[in-house]
Amino acid sequence: MAPSTIAVLGGGITGLSSAFHLSRRYPKTKIVLLEKSNRLGGWIQSKRVKVPIPGGDVGNVVLELGPRTLRTQSHALLELINLLGLQSQIITTPATSPAAQNRFLYIPDSGGSGLTRIPTNPLSLLFSRLAPIILPAVTREAFRKSNRPASSDASTSKEIEDDSIDSILSRRFSPELARVMGSSLIHGIYASDSRKVSVRAAMPIVWKAEGMGGGSIVKGLWKMRGGDSASPTITYETGGLEKLMKGMSVYSFKGGMQALVDALTERLQNTENVEVRLESDVKDVIPKNSGFEVSLPTSNLTASHVVSSLPLNIVHALPSLSSLPNLTTNPHSSVSVVSFIFPFPLDTIHPAGFGYLIPRPKSGYDAPNHSNPEGVLGVVFDSCSVASQDTPHGQTTKMTMMVGGPYGLSGLPPPEDTKLFGKVLFETLKRHLGKELPPPVHIEVNHRWNCIPTLLPGHLGRMEELKDVLAGGQYGGRLEVVGSAVQGVSVGDCVSQGRETGQGWD
Ligand SMILES: Cc1cc2nc3c(=O)[nH]c(=O)nc-3n(C[C@H](O)[C@H](O)[C@H](O)COP(=O)(O)OP(=O)(O)OC[C@H]3O[C@@H](n4cnc5c(N)ncnc54)[C@H](O)[C@@H]3O)c2cc1C
Repeated sequence: MAPSTIAVLGGGITGLSSAFHLSRRYPKTKIVLLEKSNRLGGWIQSKRVKVPIPGGDVGNVVLELGPRTLRTQSHALLELINLLGLQSQIITTPATSPAAQNRFLYIPDSGGSGLTRIPTNPLSLLFSRLAPIILPAVTREAFRKSNRPASSDASTSKEIEDDSIDSILSRRFSPELARVMGSSLIHGIYASDSRKVSVRAAMPIVWKAEGMGGGSIVKGLWKMRGGDSASPTITYETGGLEKLMKGMSVYSFKGGMQALVDALTERLQNTENVEVRLESDVKDVIPKNSGFEVSLPTSNLTASHVVSSLPLNIVHALPSLSSLPNLTTNPHSSVSVVSFIFPFPLDTIHPAGFGYLIPRPKSGYDAPNHSNPEGVLGVVFDSCSVASQDTPHGQTTKMTMMVGGPYGLSGLPPPEDTKLFGKVLFETLKRHLGKELPPPVHIEVNHRWNCIPTLLPGHLGRMEELKDVLAGGQYGGRLEVVGSAVQGVSVGDCVSQGRETGQGWD
């Protein structure tokens, strides 16, 4: 029987897409979306800033306070965009453009200065400063014996069932490659320490390749080059958007990521069986009479089914759900997002490219006097990575520095002094780029506390355990727990989870 009332907890992108898909799947069911704050979107938030530019013109610039680019591979996200009619708002970045081809590292430990381009083909690798790190490690890997360690569980002779990104790259390639390449990548996606992130959760293809290649990731990737024929075929209503995305690297929207949230909000508000309630701080979810009572500050809501997209530590804080397993295992990273706007074209400010990442210092994050004193994770060249969001076109340059994560903010002025915080980081930016820069017309600092979960090794197994508990007993499969800390942090992962909610409820 179809659910009578579904409560969706949390109005971030996972909750919004859950409510959207549930309202289509169950058009006769009442769906109530409960969001604690007075806005929807969670970490997705774009803002327009007006800045003066030489000649008396006014620049209109989109700043992202959270996610800024979307990967083209997520069919669930393309489907959502199609169903919301957002096609005309899309801005794509071709894979052949300098923005996609030029991704840099800033390696303060290397002794050199400036940015190092990450090679994109064998020829560019040969002439790269990274060749001594990448070439011998990759060449040897295919000949190195299988070295997946045995499980620490003495009762079994099995191999480990998961590993950290740093460990798998170190044991297959080299510790230096793992540090320089692996840690940089994880700084860019998770703002976290690659020694702590699960390879199966964050880079399943690497784990799978190791298995398929008889221990060698290189051999496994070679075997898998034709695609994964074993993966199930799901039909998505993408309206042919895959065609538009062919040959593209990333994309966003003319009005920034907020366009996705605004379109979802409008659609939900105009859908008869959906009610959106802001400022509804969920205090508890009590299993009752084959359903749930959702406690709210003023009145309670009775629901036959619940989808929670709340951060897992918040689910743990709900008294009746605190005994659910594995809710507090994963820590969260905090990131300070610092945007700089210059009233000049980008070629006067930085090289054309996506931006740069900085690897973990050789001496670690906590060592005194390490090579990255301000704790910068990386910088995105926003005007290049997603062009033509701002007007007048090409006359302003925006860049965003991500700071914190495993470094914390101890090397910086107090976070509440945002003016000084931004000023110090502008000096850092000049040092990284190795040049004097004109003063920015706008610096925007936003501290995003506990915003990205670090999915520790064993994460997938723990989430299976949680799912099993929710499938039985007093929950009876009527409570689903989803969100960035469950099945992947990218916007595409979140939308995909929203799409899958409530599939077995009728
Ligand atoms: C700085 C930053 C940059 C990122 N960059 C990218 C990127 O470029 N590309 C990409 O794909 N991904 C990126 N991500 C990741 C992605 O944005 C997030 O993983 C995703 O937005 C999380 O969505 P969510 O709905 O699962 O969680 P959230 O956005 O955290 O939503 C949860 C919602 O629950 C609400 N809530 C909390 N407690 C309660 C309560 N008790 N009752 C009711 N509501 C409650 C919150 O207010 C919030 O609205 C980035 C994330 C950050 C922070």
